[in-house]
Amino acid sequence: MKFLLCFFLLTNLTVLAEDDHHDHNHHHNEEKETTKSLSAHEHGVSVLNIVQDLNSISFEFEMPGFDVVGFEYKAKKKEDIKKVRNALNILSDYQNMIIIPAEAKCEQETNSAKVLNEGSHSEFISEYIFNCKNLSSIKSIKVKFFDSFKFSKKLSVTIVSTNKKLSKIIDKTNKMLNVEGYF
Ligand SMILES: [Zn+2]
Repeated sequence: MKFLLCFFLLTNLTVLAEDDHHDHNHHHNEEKETTKSLSAHEHGVSVLNIVQDLNSISFEFEMPGFDVVGFEYKAKKKEDIKKVRNALNILSDYQNMIIIPAEAKCEQETNSAKVLNEGSHSEFISEYIFNCKNLSSIKSIKVKFFDSFKFSKKLSVTIVSTNKKLSKIIDKTNKMLNVEGYF
């Protein structure tokens, strides 16, 4: 019975996921249906999730389109498409977002950058994963994000590491993220 229930839930989730995909492509005007699957965001406030897994560390940014390009409609005009392309270029290089101290000896494993459009909102998502030889040496991480994206006012940071958890909101005046004792 338990198995059946799980199976049912999984099937349902798959159907939901497919529905969302469908909405995304074909029902841009039905705001009520489409906005629910994109995480609620506040313009000016981006999210940074930092997760440690042994020697690996990942940085995921979730940014309202407004923060990145200044608008959230789907880019159709040439100049808007150019802005989105430029933004994705900036996002695809982690050094425009964060700087990890060299003594941590981190090597990038993967990186990704994409834009999601839903209804009247959009979000840019980028992720960088590193493998580090000396993760425990990291005392601070420099945040370059605010320099790269002028519309952004705040960054809501969450760190989940082997040792600790942290949630805090930083702004342009906090360019160094103190992470001493976390990794
Ligand atoms: Zn929005």
